[in-house]
Amino acid sequence: QNSLLSATGTTIFTVMSALALEHGAINLGQGFPDYEGPEDVIDAAAAALKDGRNQYPPLTGVPELRQAVAAHNARFYGLEIDPNAEVVVTSGATEAITACLMAVLNPGDECVLIEPLYDTYLPVVKLLGAVPKLVRLSPPKWELPRAELAAAFGPKTKAILFNTPMNPTGKVFTAAELAFIADLIAKHGCYAVCDEVYEHLTFDGWKHIPLMTLPGMRERCMRIGSAGKTFSLTGWKVGYITCDRSLFGNVAKAHQNLTFTTAPNLQRGVAVGLAKPDDYFASLSASLEAKRDRLAKGLAELGFGVLPTQGSYFITTDFRPVVAPWGFNGDDVAFCRTLTEEAKVTAIPVTAFYASEDAPSHYARFAFCKGDAVLDEALARMRRWV
Ligand code: PMP
Ligand code: GLN
Repeated sequence: QNSLLSATGTTIFTVMSALALEHGAINLGQGFPDYEGPEDVIDAAAAALKDGRNQYPPLTGVPELRQAVAAHNARFYGLEIDPNAEVVVTSGATEAITACLMAVLNPGDECVLIEPLYDTYLPVVKLLGAVPKLVRLSPPKWELPRAELAAAFGPKTKAILFNTPMNPTGKVFTAAELAFIADLIAKHGCYAVCDEVYEHLTFDGWKHIPLMTLPGMRERCMRIGSAGKTFSLTGWKVGYITCDRSLFGNVAKAHQNLTFTTAPNLQRGVAVGLAKPDDYFASLSASLEAKRDRLAKGLAELGFGVLPTQGSYFITTDFRPVVAPWGFNGDDVAFCRTLTEEAKVTAIPVTAFYASEDAPSHYARFAFCKGDAVLDEALARMRRWV
């Protein structure tokens, strides 16, 4: 059946995870931890499950979680949020992204997107009949090209959707870059959908700054978080949107028509998680920073060109120095396939994060949200292979 979705392929994460399974490869492709989330969060969800919290919860989320999201915004970012009129709980950040875009985009509106981009962004913008305007960041620094970004905004711009800390680049947007984006939003009277799922995964002293905290941005931003990343529970699919009350009605209606509600027992677990002491959040990033260092060091020793990662689960690498000695001149898709089949390690080809054919095709993304022994074994396998 031909539909607007026919042009969308199966997501690269599913494709590469299946290939990893087929070849018995260590999966450093799809970004999911191979360790458990916090026990008290899991216990709270299990208790709620046993406690009869199993029917439809309120549309915008259980009160405990909405209050916890508001308190989290106040604690980390000094944002004063009304839990009853400015928070919507969703079934993962994936739903949240769609709901926020639905809340503001009409057919024919333009939406600015930043490449490389997460794979759900473009299909959803197109499904809504909006027109994507792509601006590309260039490796190795992934700096915001200011003139190009300014040129992408125009009278039809309704929204910008961007991700910081950023998948797959590991970039954390600087205060100056965010201020530049804020100026464009204010000038054009448009909105921002801020995918901040990796908000607590920043390294080397980098601090995540929500665009929503900048002057004039409180009413213009929809800020998205994910329990998947913040509590290492990616299968739970609990996300949360923080937005001004002026956007809340549309965001809630979008959620109403997408999924209506999200598992109430899991929501109670996440509420306990968001209330955890500051130490929890600090040790989460410290532990991932150590994993980043472990994998980055090993990849560099193998000859990969390792690009810096300031946040997220991911390292982007230039694989050409590794394969050049044996005359391999395939693209990133061929490289990731060969790595899976021969070295038995799986990575993600970075061209999957680009909309057009002319993307750089010599980068592979490795996820480091894995046990140390698994990271070491993956490196050992690659050492035997090169
Ligand atoms: N945005 C980005 C940038 C992601 O990497 C992911 C992947 N986990 C998501 C959104 C989706 O998050 P969730 O699993 O909560 O739907
Ligand atoms: N966000 C995860 C990643 O980038 C994958 C999520 C998914 O499989 N859709 O690896």
